[in-house]
Amino acid sequence: MSTIDEIKARIDIIDLVSETVQLRRSGKSYTGFCPFHSNTRTPAFVVFPDTGTWRCFGQCNEGGDIFRFVMKKEGWDFPETLRYLAEKAGVEIKPPTAEEQAAAEEHDQLRALLEEAVTFYRHQLLNTPPGKLALDYLHQKRSLKDETIEAFGLGYAPHSWEAALNYFRAKGYSQQDLLEAGLVTERQREQNPPDEPPKDQPRSVYDRFRHRLMIPIRDERGRMAGFGARILNPEDLPKFLNSPQTPIFDKGHLLYGLDRARKAIRTVDQAVIVEGYLDVIALHQAGFTNVVSPMGTALTEHQLYLLKRFSRRIILALDPDAAGNQATLRGLQIARQAMDHQNELVFDARGLMGYEARLQADIRVTTLPEGMDPDEVVNRNPQEWETIVSRAKPVVIHVMETLAAGRDLEDPKVKTEIANQVIPLIQDVANPIERDTYRQRLARLLRVDERTLLEATPAPPRSRSTQQRRAAIPSPRPAIESLPSQQVSDRVLEAHCLGVLLRRPDLLYRVDRSLVENKLGRLSVDDFQHTDHQDIFRLLQESIDQDIAEPLNFVLNSLSLPMMELADGLLARTEKLVSSSPNEDKVLEDLLRSLLILRKRHIAQDIDYRRFLYEEAQEAGDIRASQYGQVMREYIQVKQRLDQAMGKLSSRSVTIR
Ligand SMILES: [Zn+2]
Repeated sequence: MSTIDEIKARIDIIDLVSETVQLRRSGKSYTGFCPFHSNTRTPAFVVFPDTGTWRCFGQCNEGGDIFRFVMKKEGWDFPETLRYLAEKAGVEIKPPTAEEQAAAEEHDQLRALLEEAVTFYRHQLLNTPPGKLALDYLHQKRSLKDETIEAFGLGYAPHSWEAALNYFRAKGYSQQDLLEAGLVTERQREQNPPDEPPKDQPRSVYDRFRHRLMIPIRDERGRMAGFGARILNPEDLPKFLNSPQTPIFDKGHLLYGLDRARKAIRTVDQAVIVEGYLDVIALHQAGFTNVVSPMGTALTEHQLYLLKRFSRRIILALDPDAAGNQATLRGLQIARQAMDHQNELVFDARGLMGYEARLQADIRVTTLPEGMDPDEVVNRNPQEWETIVSRAKPVVIHVMETLAAGRDLEDPKVKTEIANQVIPLIQDVANPIERDTYRQRLARLLRVDERTLLEATPAPPRSRSTQQRRAAIPSPRPAIESLPSQQVSDRVLEAHCLGVLLRRPDLLYRVDRSLVENKLGRLSVDDFQHTDHQDIFRLLQESIDQDIAEPLNFVLNSLSLPMMELADGLLARTEKLVSSSPNEDKVLEDLLRSLLILRKRHIAQDIDYRRFLYEEAQEAGDIRASQYGQVMREYIQVKQRLDQAMGKLSSRSVTIR
């Protein structure tokens, strides 16, 4: 459930609106006087608890959900409203969007400073004698070409306590600026660790990066976030040093190379995760541009989420140590805590499968040749890299094969041991078909009967959270066409239409043409009742009006995190329909049908309301009765046109019911 959906689920629209408007029940809906326009004699404001929406049938002629209501009432923008309602609902927003907005300006200044630092370190690499050594290392040891070094903005941090400090102070930056950007470090006065300048050095701050290869780290949009720095002297420690946590550098939220890889990831519909920055660079140089790397820590759900915006097919290329570590294979909590995973890509089967299920991603694992890094592989033979990637296997299969490798599978004790480790993982798989397949595979591998396998293994106590998580995952999403339209909520229908449009923005023109042919209004923001949907539609329309080349990217990049989550859900929802449908007309028809159903529901609300006004006026002998009757008949005519348009669709429709 997205943050927005969760908030909506927790806040009762009747309660919320009742804080401002006195509501009176009338059938399934509630009516009251519109708080947004004055001079009103009729209760034109209607709230529909079923759909969680409201509409003013009077002067405003506007409507929406709880978000729109609060925005309109308080005059707030969406992030502000989101923060307010999230707090009211007790839903946590991560990260706090509104605060992010407020800090945006400060972030831009930090980024500008870091961009200058890229230039500074680059100058050191290309134009100074010590930099020449670093450059030689890149050319000779890493086989990197000048174009690659330039494209990735690599640089060199001089062997000095104060080179960067002095340079940026002279440019007018304060010590505080430099600290916040993570370019300098503050001296710990109490102790004097070996990594600090000698005591006779009067500075209280000093350069964080010294005599290191500098690798700029950018976010997925290409904005500077920080640096990764690699040693040049083999004796220096640590081997890799990143920027410290800063407002714009959060190791768990960044993937190295994603800014350059995102396009390829989308095109080939596959992302490969390796373990080092220089590996990413080498692979990109060899033409494998769908590769990224985490920041020297375990993969986080957020990182996978970020990737999944571009492709749900994710491959982890692990070195055999990490991939085959017995302790982590078993997913033992204690082993995980005891081991120092600071600098390796941790293989945590259980964690990965949890991510996979929650994100509805397809995570696979492949193993690198013993003792070789990806850059060595690709420099030796680029085709070998392709082979390694093509050998990627689902997490469960990887675990069972690794556990079985080199073991005596005739030994019943070995069989039991492996079964005990793999079966809990299989039970975690949400999809029943997948689960069966893995079980069969395990039975074959261990040469036992599948039923024996199940009986022999006591069902492990399943934690509450796992159960809840499973319950929250909509196992294979019901295709919308297989449901009778009455059962699909407005919100789902809206989401479906938007999902199709995000995937196929070009269909907007065709939808409009078809609507106009049927004497109906063009698709507009009013077709959506939910504020988040309205906002996404507005962005989509904006991108089309401005003739932006990749409307989907434009929309995604303009969204805050909770909205990103929502857009992602919209895309997942329609993936099958759009990608599996060979017939473009079928997609268009599906879209039109969903839209017409939505409009029919809205018009039914209109007609009901007008009828209510008309009958009340007639009873009271109000002269406005005939006027109300006229308006009601106009709405009935629109409904007839909608029915006709719908009828044309059904008669043509082959696959969609
Ligand atoms: Zn109004």
